[in-house]
Amino acid sequence: MGWDKHISALGGAALDAQSYGVRAANLSALSVVNDAVPVGVVLSVEAMRAVIEDPGVADDIAKELVATLDPDARFIVRPSLQNTTWTGPTALRNLGAIDEAEPAQIRQYLSFMSDYAIVIEGFADAQYQDLANANDALSKALALFEAEAGRPFPLTFQSQLAGVLRGFAKSWSRPSAKILRDAKGAPANAGLGVIIQTMAAASEQAGIGEVRGIDRNTGEMRFNGSFRSRGVDDAFDTLPEEILSQLRVSVRQAARVLKDAAYVKYSYNGTALSIIDIRSARRKPRAELQILVDLVRQEVITRDEALLRIDPRNLAEHLHPQLSQQDQPHLGAGIAASPGAAQGPVVFSAEQAQSSEAQGVRAILIREETSPEDIRGMHSAAGVLTLTGGITSHAAVIAQGLGVPCVVGAGEMRIDAALGTLTVADGRVLNEGDIITIDGGSGRIYSGALPLTRAELSEGFKTLMEWADDTRSIGVRANADTPQDARMAIDFGVDGIGLCRTEHLFYAEDRIDVMRQMILADDLEERRQALKILLPMQRDDFVALFSLMGDAPVTIRLLDPPLHEFLPKHDEDVDALADMMKLRASEVRQRIKSLEEFNPMLGKRGVRLAVTMPEIYEMQARAIFEAARIVEEQSGTTILPEIMVPLVSALREVELVKTRIDDVAEDMRRETGSLPQYQLGIMVETPRAALRSQDLASVAEFMSFGTNDLTQMTYGLSRDDAGRFMRDYVNEGVYPEDPFLTLDVEAVGELLLIASRRGRRSNPKLVLGLCGEHGGDPASVRFCKLAGFDYVSCSPYRVPIARLAAAQASLLT
Ligand code: PEP
Ligand code: MG
Repeated sequence: MGWDKHISALGGAALDAQSYGVRAANLSALSVVNDAVPVGVVLSVEAMRAVIEDPGVADDIAKELVATLDPDARFIVRPSLQNTTWTGPTALRNLGAIDEAEPAQIRQYLSFMSDYAIVIEGFADAQYQDLANANDALSKALALFEAEAGRPFPLTFQSQLAGVLRGFAKSWSRPSAKILRDAKGAPANAGLGVIIQTMAAASEQAGIGEVRGIDRNTGEMRFNGSFRSRGVDDAFDTLPEEILSQLRVSVRQAARVLKDAAYVKYSYNGTALSIIDIRSARRKPRAELQILVDLVRQEVITRDEALLRIDPRNLAEHLHPQLSQQDQPHLGAGIAASPGAAQGPVVFSAEQAQSSEAQGVRAILIREETSPEDIRGMHSAAGVLTLTGGITSHAAVIAQGLGVPCVVGAGEMRIDAALGTLTVADGRVLNEGDIITIDGGSGRIYSGALPLTRAELSEGFKTLMEWADDTRSIGVRANADTPQDARMAIDFGVDGIGLCRTEHLFYAEDRIDVMRQMILADDLEERRQALKILLPMQRDDFVALFSLMGDAPVTIRLLDPPLHEFLPKHDEDVDALADMMKLRASEVRQRIKSLEEFNPMLGKRGVRLAVTMPEIYEMQARAIFEAARIVEEQSGTTILPEIMVPLVSALREVELVKTRIDDVAEDMRRETGSLPQYQLGIMVETPRAALRSQDLASVAEFMSFGTNDLTQMTYGLSRDDAGRFMRDYVNEGVYPEDPFLTLDVEAVGELLLIASRRGRRSNPKLVLGLCGEHGGDPASVRFCKLAGFDYVSCSPYRVPIARLAAAQASLLT
C-alpha cells in the first residue's frame, strides 16, 4: 500500500542519486534534454530496502509498477546503485508477458527465461535458447524450469517483476556482496534503486553499441565508438548519419550531466536510437588532465572544480616514466621513495654507476644505504635501490631532489659486495650487469626491462598548473642545490629556492679534497688557507644560482652536516689525502678519528659548527655577498640573499652567527663602499627552537621549519633507521602514516603552530616557511596554508604537486 510515492517516472525530470541511485539520476537528467532515453519508471532505494526487509512486499510493489507501464511492451530491469564503484545485481532484459499464442517472440522468451533462471533463481546453467527450433519449445522450457525450481515460471510481467525485485534484494544482501561494498567504503545502509525501461522493438538492423567523446589514451576530444549488429562487431560506420550525429549530441549532453567525459551505451533498432546508459568514460590516468582542461573550456565544469578533481599525488604520473603495466611478478619490494620507473644493469658502487653512464648506459645503483660519497653515482644512475633507510634517509632525499626513481628499505634482499651479487627473498641471485626495473612509485623491484611509458609535460598539465598558480595564496619554492636543480625547479614553476643545502656543493670532485684539508687542518692558519681556495668555488655556485633565479628569493643554508661525513672512508682515499697534505697516513687517520662522534646527528653539526669553527660560515657569507654583488653588476637586478642557519636551539647561537655575518658585511663595505644587504633566517629543527621561537624571531627575518629533523627529534626517531621498521609500525596502526612522509599534525604540527604564533608575536613581519620533505606532501601543504605560512619548499620534482595542493588548500579554506 502506498508504494506509488516510491515510484517515479523516468523521462522529463531529474531524479536525485541518493533516493534513486546514480544511474537513474544520470539517465533522468539526460532525459530532460534527450528524448532517446526510453521511458520507464524508477523504484526508490527506500522501496528496495523494504523488499530486502520483507521479500513479500515485492508483489505489492510490482502491482503498482506495472500499472503505469505499457502491457504490450518488453522491458529491461537494471539496478541503480547509490555509488557506481559498488557492484550490483545483473540486469535482466526482455521482461514482459509470456504468451504461448505469440510464437514470433519465442527467442526473446527463451532468452529471458534462461537469464531469469540463472540470475534470479541461481540455476548453475539454463540454455533454453537451444530449444528454439524444437517443437513446443516454450512448453518444454517451462517444464524444465518447473522441474528444477519446484514452481512454475512466472508468466505475467507483474510476477516476473516481483521475482526480479526479490532476486535483486537477495543478491544485494549476500554477505560476499556486502564485503565487496565495505571494501569500497560503502555505508552499512548502502542501497540500490531499480530502473524499468521499455525496450525498443528489434529489427534486422538492430544492435547495441557504445560511444565516447575522448581518446582514452590521450584524453583528447575525439568522438569514437562501436556498434554490434547480428554478430558483426565493427558495424559503427554502417549507422545512418543522422543516428551518428544524434550520438554525437548525446555524448556532449551526457558530459554535461556527468560533469565528465562521457561514455554512452545505446541500442539502435533499425529506425530509432535508445540511450541505455551513460557513465564517465574510462581513461588512462595520463589522459585525465587534458580531459579536465577540455571540460573547463566547454564550460562543463569550472576551473576550481577541475583543480579539486585531481589528486596531487597522481601528478607524479606526468613527471616520470611509468611502468606500462602494474601487475607483474616482482622480485621484492621496499619503500617507495622517489617516483617513476627506471631500469638498467645492476651496479653496486657509485663508481660503477658513473663508469656505466660514461659508456652510455645508466645503471641501477644498489647500496646497503647511500652516503654523501654516493651522490655523484646517484646522479649518473637511472635509479637507486637501498636495502635500509626510510623515506627521509639520505638515498630518498637525494633521489627526490635529483628526480631519480628510488626504492629504499628493501630489507629482504642481501648484497654480497665481494661477489658482486644481490640475493632476493626467494633465493634468486642477481649478478652485476643483470637488468632490473624498479618502480619508485610502488616500491617494487622487477627482473628484466619492463615496458615503460615516457614522461612528458602535456599542454593539459601546463594549463592546469597555471590555473593552480592563479588560485593559490601560499608560495611554493624548491629545495635546489645546484644550477641543474635550479633549472629543473624553474621548469616546474617555482617561486624561488627555499633551501640550498650548501654541503652538496662540496662533494664535487674538484672540491672534496680541499674540503677535507680544511676539516683536518691542524691550526687556524691551515684552515684559512683551505677556505681561501673554497671561497671562489662557493662564490661561483651562488653566482650561478642568483643569475638563474633573478629577483626570485634564494635561501642559502649554511653548512649543516657533521664534518665527519666529508672525510674519506676507504684506505686508498686516506692514503691519497695524506699524500696531498704531505702528512703520514697514520697522522691523517688520527685526525679523522678525533672527529668521530657517537651520535653525529645530535653532535657537532649545523650552527654548532659555527660556534666552534666560525671561519667556515664566514667564508660562506663572503661567497654569498660577493656573488650577489657580481650578479647585481651583471644583470642590474637587486639580489637580496636569504641566509639560513641550521639546527638552531638557542638565541645566543643565532646572535653569534649574525655578528659574524655582519662583520663580513662590514668588511665588504670597507672594501667596496657599499654594505651588502641580506635577510637572516633560522631553521626550526629542534623542539627547543620551536618552543623558544619568540627569542629566535627577534633576530631573524624568516623562519623555515626543517620538518625532517624536527620530526626526528620530536619522536626521538632516527630518520635514517626508521625505514627498517616503519612498515610494521604503520601496519600495526602505531602511526597512521610514516611521519617523515606526512606531517604528524598532532605533535610536530603543534610545535609548528606554537612556534609560528610565538615567533610572529615577537616579530609580526616574520616570514614562515617549511622546507622538509613534507613541503611536497599535499596534506602537509594544506596544514601550512591553514597555519598561515608564507611558503613551502620541496624537491623540484614535487613542486607541481605542491602547487596543486596549495591551490586546493586555498579552495577548501
Ligand atoms: C630538515 O631537516 O627538514 C631539512 C630540510 O634539512 P635536512 O633534510 O638537510 O636535514
Ligand atoms: Mg635538517
